[in-house]
Amino acid sequence: MDRRKFLLAVGAVPLISPFHGYAQPKTMKDIQALQTNWKTLLPAGLNVPSPAEPLKLSKDEWKKRLPNDLAYKVLREESTERAGTSPLNAEKRPGIFACAGCDLPLFTSEMKYESGTGWPSFFTTIPGVFETKKDFFLIYPRTEYHCKRCGGHHGHLFDDGPPPTNQRWCNNGVALKFVPRDGGKA
Ligand SMILES: [Zn+2]
Repeated sequence: MDRRKFLLAVGAVPLISPFHGYAQPKTMKDIQALQTNWKTLLPAGLNVPSPAEPLKLSKDEWKKRLPNDLAYKVLREESTERAGTSPLNAEKRPGIFACAGCDLPLFTSEMKYESGTGWPSFFTTIPGVFETKKDFFLIYPRTEYHCKRCGGHHGHLFDDGPPPTNQRWCNNGVALKFVPRDGGKA
């Protein structure tokens, strides 16, 4: 099976406009600005952890800490939520998407776009927050990425995202926690 047929088969080809309701960066300079200025999307006065403060817990401690069984399965056992099930797919308010396991900020709302896949998708990340590895779960090799602070599995990185990065960080919504910059319901 060639690459495009494979992507069609797993529903990874966008069907709707990727920037409907989102601001679209044009150049790599725009991307660098989003990465440098990510803290402007944090609520005022909120303290957040850094990747340099690792969080290591036992299996039982993770079960207690995480909000539900699915979050545990995704973050600690590399499971994947069903497409289209996360309320974060439609989240467009200014704010931060942090790790549901350890609160490390991973993406800002300005890094999000609509991939049409049914999973929250981002074309870049806050710098230095993920580590990657290859997996062969679907035969086609995929790049799996996990949180640098707690090791939690978040999703897979593809190279069919929008320009200028062409990256698609395909993230499980249940592995994320949205923190709106201007207050209101998370
Ligand atoms: Zn984490």
